[in-house]
Amino acid sequence: MVTETARDDATWYECEACGLLFDDREDARRHEENCDAEDPTYLQ
Ligand SMILES: [Zn+2]
Repeated sequence: MVTETARDDATWYECEACGLLFDDREDARRHEENCDAEDPTYLQ
């Protein structure tokens, strides 16, 4: 799930599964569709 987060006076879109931040909602959504966060080794 993509969540909005405010940081540095800008709105970011965060992949809730892996924590990646995007400045574009569409990018975040596309990432999420292919997000690999089920695999814990993907987390940093
Ligand atoms: Zn992700």
